[in-house]
Amino acid sequence: MNTFRFSTGALDTGALQREMRDERCGGFASFEGWVRNHNEGHAVTRLEYEAFVELAEKEGARIVEEARVKYGVTRAACVHRVGSLALGDVAVWVGVSAAHRDEAFRACRFIIDEVKHRVPIWKKEHYVNGDSGWVNCERCAMPAAHEHEHGHDHAHHHPAHAQPSPDYSRQIALREVGTEGQARLRGSSVLVVGAGGLGVPVLQYLAGAGVGRIGIVDADRLEPSNLHRQTWYALGECGQEKSSLAAARVRALNPDVRVEAHALRLDAHNAERLCAGHDLILDCSDNFTTKFLLNELALRTGKPVLFASVYQYEGQLQLVRGDNATACLRCVWPEATRDGLIGNCAEAGVLGPVPGVFGSLQALEALKLLMGLPGIKPDEMLIFDLVTLSTQRLRARRMPECEAHRRATSPAPAAPEELEMHFDSLADARNAGFVFVDVRDARERATDPIPGESLHLPMSKLLTDATSLELAGRYLLICATGKRSGAAADLLRSQGFAECRSLGGGLKRLKASA
Ligand SMILES: [Zn+2]
Repeated sequence: MNTFRFSTGALDTGALQREMRDERCGGFASFEGWVRNHNEGHAVTRLEYEAFVELAEKEGARIVEEARVKYGVTRAACVHRVGSLALGDVAVWVGVSAAHRDEAFRACRFIIDEVKHRVPIWKKEHYVNGDSGWVNCERCAMPAAHEHEHGHDHAHHHPAHAQPSPDYSRQIALREVGTEGQARLRGSSVLVVGAGGLGVPVLQYLAGAGVGRIGIVDADRLEPSNLHRQTWYALGECGQEKSSLAAARVRALNPDVRVEAHALRLDAHNAERLCAGHDLILDCSDNFTTKFLLNELALRTGKPVLFASVYQYEGQLQLVRGDNATACLRCVWPEATRDGLIGNCAEAGVLGPVPGVFGSLQALEALKLLMGLPGIKPDEMLIFDLVTLSTQRLRARRMPECEAHRRATSPAPAAPEELEMHFDSLADARNAGFVFVDVRDARERATDPIPGESLHLPMSKLLTDATSLELAGRYLLICATGKRSGAAADLLRSQGFAECRSLGGGLKRLKASA
């Protein structure tokens, strides 16, 4: 029922609305986007929509699912027309059923905004004077060169005051990239751990290339001694958090990129949460603790991590795919146990371009990985010595006695129990050792308080930041009907909160049985 799909024929909005109708819900909100007769001062006669369907459907489904979790809606759908459309046709339709009107409105708006922003769909307008042009420029992955090809670049030039749009024509021109590769980059999400010597070139090139979403993790503040190798930053910015400085640089370079800054150190508690939702993790850290944490995460979740390490004039690159057949970082470095065994930049010293070279190489391999192009393999390690300029490709073998692999493949201590639990009273739940977490908003909490002690972590907060909860905590999530708490418990479980449950049926069911 919760779907994103394309339609080549006219949309029957009445039928769509009936399909999305949920009698249990208090509200239904819908949005219709129409083909209008003008755009930026040009009279439009008709238009065509094209999509990169495979990626668009995947991203569209992700958006609808995010809306379901975020707003607790019961039914949501988005249908987008493709092909040739006439004036007045419905180009896109969004419909949402939710318990309350506020959630329905907000979920509807969220879906249409995100679809416009994230889903690879292009629009070609046909004008009264016979011209035509690809538009949607502010978000479009189509090359500007495309317009020139048609000789109609005058048809929809930007007003003088507008900021120029990102233009990927110089990479789309490569046969291996093309519009499909560009759409893949746009549909990708990468987490960059470390915004220092390696992270700076990595972030510059990923942002420049138009990777759709980038997360940046770095707990440090900029210091004057960083600048010889982190030349993106300015001396006057010393003392500021690198994660937010880097995020601002990414936004300035390419407003198409959705960027999130995390000013914290990756640790065992937050690693899984930070990496969730990203397709690829890039290790740009300078310490073993972080590298081995990411290695374990790769093995546990199967999420690929591309490692880069630099020492004085030398550096190396390794891809850990996170499966049981190929090498991990521990297979290659069984003895490295903690920081300090090998010095980092701070102690050992480094020439600025050295991390620059390896960061650039890491960015290159990341882009190729995201586009499915040949590159570094999981059974090899690239080692460059930048004094002699010699390069080596070593075999990285999966070691049978590898500790990290053994831990990741040994069976889980106990099967996770049911997500939803039913109690006859809150006292029973409390006696079972649960700490209550109220996920309702402040207004609901005030009008219908939970007796006794409970933590308050409203859904909107919980979705973005659950750091106030302990990973091992025994939590019972509570909302009015059990819908939101169920979705929240599901999400927290996926982030490693193993002892997290939802009160089935919510407070409503308790009242009914009381
Ligand atoms: Zn291993």
